[in-house]
Amino acid sequence: VTADSSTPTIFDKIISKELPSTVVYEDDKALAFRDINPQAPVHIVLIPKNRDGLTQLAKADERHKDILGHLLYVAKVVADQEELADGFRVVINDGPNGCQSVYHLHLHILGGRKLKWPPG
Ligand code: 5GP
Repeated sequence: VTADSSTPTIFDKIISKELPSTVVYEDDKALAFRDINPQAPVHIVLIPKNRDGLTQLAKADERHKDILGHLLYVAKVVADQEELADGFRVVINDGPNGCQSVYHLHLHILGGRKLKWPPG
């Protein structure tokens, strides 16, 4: 796995629909789809369509503030859509210690069961 900002990831093929996914939300800036390896009854991955250097949260700078805010708001919209009124979790795995595996910034939206805290 590389964190190089120019290296395409599997999420580019999901954005282009070259690779099928179950899309649950889409707008001009963001795409949300069901995780292929769900860790909870509801497990959605939410990404910016334009990575724009955002391989991971740690690479964010001032120009990313709007998209970061948008993604967090969309996480709420998706949680509503998925009927997660009993609660849910939004997670960003960052870097090796955060167990990040795909270097295109993404939010995990997890719910549908009581989640453990703290995570491992
Ligand atoms: P990370 O470990 O980087 O935080 O999360 C990447 C997530 O993307 C993982 O939960 C993984 O299951 C999911 N994922 C990886 N490849 C695919 C894919 O091809 N399709 C879908 N739907 N999810 C994927």
